[in-house]
Amino acid sequence: MTASSEQDNVQDHSDPSHGARLGFDTRAIHHAFDPADFSRAVQPPVFLTSTYGFESVAANDAAAALGGRLYAREYNPTTEILEKRLANLEGAEAGLVVSTGMAAFGTLVLSLLSQGDELVVHKTLYSNTVAMVEQCLPRFGIRVVPVDLSNPNNLDAAITDKTRLVYFETPVNPLSAILDISAIAARAHARNVKVAVDSTFASPSLQRPIEHGADIVLHSLTKYINGHGDTLGGALLGDAETLHTLHETGLRYITGATLSPHSAFLILRGLKTLSLRMERHSASALIIAHMLEAHPAVAWVSYPFLDSHPDHTIAHKQMTQGAGMLAFGLHAGFDGARTMLDRLQLLTRAVSLGDTDSLIYHPASITRARQALRKDAHLIEGVGEDLVRLSVGLEDVSDLVADLRQALQDL
Ligand code: PLP
Repeated sequence: MTASSEQDNVQDHSDPSHGARLGFDTRAIHHAFDPADFSRAVQPPVFLTSTYGFESVAANDAAAALGGRLYAREYNPTTEILEKRLANLEGAEAGLVVSTGMAAFGTLVLSLLSQGDELVVHKTLYSNTVAMVEQCLPRFGIRVVPVDLSNPNNLDAAITDKTRLVYFETPVNPLSAILDISAIAARAHARNVKVAVDSTFASPSLQRPIEHGADIVLHSLTKYINGHGDTLGGALLGDAETLHTLHETGLRYITGATLSPHSAFLILRGLKTLSLRMERHSASALIIAHMLEAHPAVAWVSYPFLDSHPDHTIAHKQMTQGAGMLAFGLHAGFDGARTMLDRLQLLTRAVSLGDTDSLIYHPASITRARQALRKDAHLIEGVGEDLVRLSVGLEDVSDLVADLRQALQDL
């Protein structure tokens, strides 16, 4: 699809949700889908086809001119609804969905960066993103510069004339630290450098980085946006020109990190209830954060909407609620974390986040276990041996509090 046709589609007047004029939830349910185009089906059909047949060579040419609508690695109608809807909800001109959040990061960096370029990243990132920037990108001659972006002034010394992109998460996984999107974007733009934000921990219902000056937004759709823990997915949302580049040169075409249409359907279904779910995740997480903060076994709690959070003013500026992710540590440290996790009866010991089910994990335990396989496995910068990460689910919060309390007893 060309940049201009992508833009036209975003402003498509046949769209029953009329672009961005309707409310967030209405657009999450209706944007970019008109039942009249799909035999009046109320829910988007799943197109399970690997290729598309054409009535003539000229029709085949016309499809190719639309950006390769010839083959399902490049184009699928179900997937396209998801791309347009996510772009609309983020306030972006265009979107690209791929098979996982990591595929989205791979698409981003391997499409926009070349040998000799530099990438500035915040010093703490999701562990596999760290693996990508530490182990993979340097092999291709891309220099990665980790910086503490909690002070946006640090960007000034980190950016050189080779810097092509600044990349960070906010909230930051797994610390639930907050970075100031508008302050970072202003400094990067002053040096003509694009900014990409991984907004997975917030979702577009609580935070829209483009409104704060970011150029590109990345999501692991696996998390809140799908929300039900039953599929993987990733998305990149941004301006039409950049998305055109990502679309044409990105990993979906070249390495085939295509989202399955069935996953696109599930994610579209999850998206319909996103803001309802985020309200509940956020309300329950705040109750749990207060409970933990007052508990004698707990040494510290990090939750963006707690008054004790060092960045809570920035969190209130760029997020409408705190989401469901919190981190905490016990006075009993590494061993205490393991004991507490083993005592839990309702919360599930698992990685991942953003599901209906509450998920809890202890990164230091996983890292130690991985060291048996890989000697260079290490904890991410800023993550202590005591840190426990909790993704608060949609269960009754009183049951979650009771389970955590019994697990913390006498620790
Ligand atoms: N970004 C963040 C903040 C994550 O937490 C994750 C996964 O946990 C990813 C990206 C990668 O997403 P996926 O697991 O869908 O590849």
